[in-house]
Amino acid sequence: MRAEILAIGSELLTPLRSDTNALHLTAKFLEAGVEVGARVTVADDFGLLESAFRAALARADVVVSTGGLGPTEDDLTRECAAAALGRRLVRDLGYVERLRERFARFGRVMAAVNEKQGDVIEGGRLILNPRGTAPAQVVEAEGRLLVLLPGPPHEMAPLFDEHVLPLVRARAGGRVLKTRVLRIGGMGESDVEQLVAPIYKTFTNPRTTILGAAGQVELHLTAEAASEAEAEARVEALAQPIRAVLPGRIFSEDGRELHEVVAALLVERGLTLALAESCTAGLIAARLTDVPGSSRFLERGYVVYSNRSKSEALGVDAALIEAHGAVSEEVARALAEGVLRASGADIGAAVTGIAGPDGGTADKPVGLTYLAISGAAGERVRRAQFPGERWRVREQAVKALLDLLRRGLLRIDA
Ligand code: ATP
Ligand code: MG
Repeated sequence: MRAEILAIGSELLTPLRSDTNALHLTAKFLEAGVEVGARVTVADDFGLLESAFRAALARADVVVSTGGLGPTEDDLTRECAAAALGRRLVRDLGYVERLRERFARFGRVMAAVNEKQGDVIEGGRLILNPRGTAPAQVVEAEGRLLVLLPGPPHEMAPLFDEHVLPLVRARAGGRVLKTRVLRIGGMGESDVEQLVAPIYKTFTNPRTTILGAAGQVELHLTAEAASEAEAEARVEALAQPIRAVLPGRIFSEDGRELHEVVAALLVERGLTLALAESCTAGLIAARLTDVPGSSRFLERGYVVYSNRSKSEALGVDAALIEAHGAVSEEVARALAEGVLRASGADIGAAVTGIAGPDGGTADKPVGLTYLAISGAAGERVRRAQFPGERWRVREQAVKALLDLLRRGLLRIDA
């Protein structure tokens, strides 16, 4: 079963407002086992709206619109949906009366324009909206379910959850969709694809999507089944062989990000960490302190940007920097050992690299980065050559250091 979502309102086609309603609706549809085939945002324009409704109704089993149910001239949803179905609008006088009373309760006289909020598409029914003046409505037409919801998110969401979702679930016949996200560190998208495609291609259910981001790759495994347990079992049947070809690479299957995983490992083991950051200049410390309770494991962090600071704060021998350059395996190791010594933490970790766009040379190009750890998670140094512009190099350096820590803490081979 397929759904489509129409977000209605010219304000959504400016940079001032974004269509957050669709996020709520998409999440609920997926939970109910209904795939969302398209999300369309449409301006308050009769022709555009009518054709958008027509197109959606031609493709999907369930069409849900949000917005444009107000009393003003530019609120055209009812009229356009009716036109797309070739049906008339019928005024529900009982509803108009209730609305009039609602205004009276607030000591106001209802304007004549509000009467059109009682208009229902022939054959449909209104759903009362206790949080606003615009009721929702539901119409069945040629086996399709069409639902018009008001735009304000705090009105739309409860109306959908309480009144529409049960109808959708009944239609979906109790099917459920379950998605598990496998997050992978230290590998590029194409390397992951090459290893896992031969496996997931043999499965039609779950379906697999691969998504690359700076410094991390995600595999989304989505199974459809008659029950939660069956969907879970189907996902697990695919996750197992994928794990086998990516030993030590998958850092999360439960929605957690890499910094959360590292934070949890440090807390679990009762270990403290000190950071020496050159090219990331505090990004790693900031990321780790996004996690509540980070004072339990983060001892301190140094931003050692200049050569002088590397020597003065962390005792890196100036001659070593002179001999090998600040971006080198030797200096990365000396920074990690230096920060371990200076801080008295259990683990010292360091990053030094060339973020660009300037500063690269033939033998040390932009993106060259050394990462090192010292102490209770082992002695390790990693060299990496990150592609991309400045922010991407820095983001990949953050992820790479966190992954080096994770692998060290778990004693996974380098
Ligand atoms: P009302 O009678 O309450 O005005 P309405 O159905 O006419 O209901 P709109 O006027 O279209 O609703 O939108 C009202 C508010 O809801 C606006 O502030 C709008 O930005 C917000 N809104 C509308 N659609 C969305 C959406 N898809 N995502 C997030 N906010 C939305
Ligand atoms: Mg509007």
